[in-house]
Amino acid sequence: MNVLLLGSGGREHALAWKLAQSPLMGRFFALPGNPGIAEHATCFETIPLTDHDAIVAVCAAEKIDLVVVGPEAPLVDGIADRLIAEGFPVFGPRRVAAQLEGSKLFTKELCKAHDIPTAAFGRFTQAEEARAFVRKHGAPIVLKADGLMAGKGVIVAMTLEEALAGVDEVFAMSGEDGGFRTEILIEEFLDGEEVSFFCLVDGETVLPFGSAQDHKRAYDGDKGPNTGGMGAYSPAPIFSAEMERRTLHEIIRPTARALADAASPYRGVLFAGLMITAQGPKLIEYNVRFGDPECQVLTMRLEGDLLPLLHAVATGRLEDHDIGMKPEAAITVVMAANGYPGPYEKGSRIGGLVEAETVPGVKVFHAGTRRVGEDIVANGGRVLAVTAIGANVAEARERAYDAIGRIDWPEGFHRTDIAWRALGE
Ligand code: ATP
Repeated sequence: MNVLLLGSGGREHALAWKLAQSPLMGRFFALPGNPGIAEHATCFETIPLTDHDAIVAVCAAEKIDLVVVGPEAPLVDGIADRLIAEGFPVFGPRRVAAQLEGSKLFTKELCKAHDIPTAAFGRFTQAEEARAFVRKHGAPIVLKADGLMAGKGVIVAMTLEEALAGVDEVFAMSGEDGGFRTEILIEEFLDGEEVSFFCLVDGETVLPFGSAQDHKRAYDGDKGPNTGGMGAYSPAPIFSAEMERRTLHEIIRPTARALADAASPYRGVLFAGLMITAQGPKLIEYNVRFGDPECQVLTMRLEGDLLPLLHAVATGRLEDHDIGMKPEAAITVVMAANGYPGPYEKGSRIGGLVEAETVPGVKVFHAGTRRVGEDIVANGGRVLAVTAIGANVAEARERAYDAIGRIDWPEGFHRTDIAWRALGE
């Protein structure tokens, strides 16, 4: 099978590493890729993900049998619609179903129409009405801009003053759409522990792919600014078999059914951000792709071959398959450039990568690197995802930090407390 993988981050390196192990793999390409991915696939480094014509041309020239889409932006832009129209099977939903991530309002209305547990909400185009709603419901309360905001469109207001002041801020984030103010959402605050749950969905069949917990804040103790994610581990101890059963029954299957019934079946990985509340699991948000860095720990734990699973999703044949996850735990620790998520420098040399991978169970995924001659240099905010598997979270963590200790990169930093929750620290 000839495969084209779209994307260039740590998530895509993890997918490439796992896909490349498949005996079914024919020729393997990535676009634009990164130096880690280039160890497994031929990269079209100069083609951007926004150039759909060029992507179609690569698929035709290389006789691609499966396109695997890593990030959300091309899906929300309709890359799957275009490729499917040209006859290429795609792992990743079409534009309409990708609104599950692209539009919070779409998801909230779908939940409301199908009784899917989520925070109660109101939608507003006028700041005064929004403030009246906030005064009525009080704090804590959550304000959200609509659309793809890369994690920056949400204010969790713990006081009424914060919430009232946040209304204008969230309207400003939403921007204007053709002269009209876009809508904002105001949500009930959900109290509980967050967990990420992943399922493969081929339209009809839903197969669970495991749970994970991530670490959004930049520094130890969950302090500092929000980031794309500084680390993750899998499985999440809080997500018991009973929670999984309830989530599948109350949230994931009704969502898949609703989209299939509306003639926009979901094909891809469905990533549910959940709050485990006293009443049970409630949906915070959907994402239409694997998480980064959650993908790194999920692929480490996957038993067997990833390629036939992704192909079955793309072709609607998932019912013939099972997903087996290893009982071991996996952890990933992100190494980021000093200054991230603010301004940071690029180009510093990273040493010790080979040495790091001599630690048992360790794989170093490239997230933002570039090859310069023989050297690997930093080329982004999040630069490496040092990932380890072990008999339990404690062993996996020890291995990951042992590997980090062997990486020579003074221009980078990492959190030292990834998985504190799982270890009861
Ligand atoms: P990200 O890209 O970081 O996932 P996003 O912009 O898609 O963020 P959400 O996931 O909806 O936005 O919210 C971001 C974070 O805000 C959540 O991970 C959660 O911690 C918090 N949050 C969102 N909604 C609620 C809620 N109703 N109650 C409590 N906390 C919430």
